[in-house]
Amino acid sequence: MWPSKNKNIDRMEFLLTLRRRGITDAAVLRAMDEVPREMFVNDDTRQQAYHDHALPIACGQTISQPYVVAYMTELLELQTHHRVLEIGTGSGYQAAVLSRIAAHVVSIERYRTLAEKARRTFDRIGYTNIDVIVGDGFEGAPNHPPFDRIIVTAAAETIPENLLGQLTDDGIMVLPVGPRDGTQQIVRLRKTPDGVEREDLIAVRFVPLMPGIAKEL
Ligand code: SAH
Repeated sequence: MWPSKNKNIDRMEFLLTLRRRGITDAAVLRAMDEVPREMFVNDDTRQQAYHDHALPIACGQTISQPYVVAYMTELLELQTHHRVLEIGTGSGYQAAVLSRIAAHVVSIERYRTLAEKARRTFDRIGYTNIDVIVGDGFEGAPNHPPFDRIIVTAAAETIPENLLGQLTDDGIMVLPVGPRDGTQQIVRLRKTPDGVEREDLIAVRFVPLMPGIAKEL
């Protein structure tokens, strides 16, 4: 642990960086301020919890960069009654941020180890409106009613059409699309009465969306 003075300065700097990079939605900034990112990173990177970059977590995966978490959350235009589906629980950090704004979050992870760890973290902090499912995100959560919003936090090479079918009629889906070894783009898809509108936004790098539940733990 670091001296508490540094910790506060780190957290102030963290919010300033998000604002400086263009995050303006007050609910998103409040959620980013509220969620203790240090609870979601590995012990050996805790000192860097409030730096604006991705960090390694178990199973060869990463906790996303805070700016990208805030940016994708802002793109979702969340309302307090919304039910959100996340594909790629990872550390649980993105789900935690969503859960501070929306009514309920269902998050799917293909590694049991990560899913269980994220559940424990939510319990320790006291976040009760997040359900973590071990499963294949390509399949989504077909037994649940349609979701108002879907966020995918691993890169898809093409849009998983199946997931669009699990969105409400005016739903929004945000995801990185592109090659697994290169740069991807954040894409926002919005369902409208006339079809699905697509916006291609910033360049990012995410770990790839992999088919099936992980055989390793
Ligand atoms: N949202 C996470 C970051 C996720 S990294 C966070 O805030 O920490 C991407 C995650 O997606 C990894 O944990 C990876 O195991 C998971 N993933 C990849 N393909 C998947 C799939 N088909 N179904 C479910 N999870 C998947």
